[in-house]
Amino acid sequence: MCKFNRSWIGICKNDNAEGEEYCNEHLNIKCSVCGEQATHDCPIASQLVCGTPLCDSLECKLQHYYLNHTSSVSLYEIKNMEEKLNIKPFDIVFSKINFGDKGEVAKLFNEHYKDQYQFLLVTYNKNNKVKLHRVDIYYEIKNKNDIGLLFENYPWCKKSITGKNIYFFNEEINISIKYPEDIVNNFEKVI
Ligand SMILES: [Zn+2]
Ligand SMILES: [Zn+2]
Ligand SMILES: [Zn+2]
Repeated sequence: MCKFNRSWIGICKNDNAEGEEYCNEHLNIKCSVCGEQATHDCPIASQLVCGTPLCDSLECKLQHYYLNHTSSVSLYEIKNMEEKLNIKPFDIVFSKINFGDKGEVAKLFNEHYKDQYQFLLVTYNKNNKVKLHRVDIYYEIKNKNDIGLLFENYPWCKKSITGKNIYFFNEEINISIKYPEDIVNNFEKVI
C-alpha cells in the first residue's frame, strides 16, 4: 500500500508499483527542497492548500517554511525547527524591500510595497549567507516606533520573538538575492 500522505486526505493506499513503496502516481514525486522521494505534500493552508511535495527531513521542512510559510503564525514553528536542528536562529529586520526584477509579480509587488517598511526574517545558512523573507502581517509600519507596538499588539508574535535581535534598516533590501552575514552590521538594533 502506498504510504504517501496527501494533505487533508490522508495516506494514499493505492497499490504500490512493483517492488516499490509508493504507487505509480507518487513514486516519482520528489521533495521540492532536496530532490529525494517525497513522503507527503505540505498541508499548510491559507486560501489554498500549499501541496508542495516534501520528504520527511526536518531540514527540508524548515527550508520550505522559509520560502513559503513565514506568516506570523508560522514563526513559532520555525523557531522550534531551528532549535531542533541546532542552526543559527532567525533575526528580524524592518526595512523597505525590493522583490527583484524577475517577472511581472515582482514588478507589481515593488510598486505596491514601495515606501512601506516590511517585517523580514533574516535567516542564516551553513555557507554564512543570509536570506531575507517577508512576513505577512496586517499591520503597517510607518516608522521605527511602530515596531514595539506591533509586538505589544500581537501576543503570538511576541512569543516567537523572545530573545531575538530586532533591527531597523532605513534603506531598501533586495529580497531576491543572498547576502553575506555581515549585512546585519548595517542594521540598527531597536529591541
Ligand atoms: Zn500513492
Ligand atoms: Zn527533502
Ligand atoms: Zn508548504
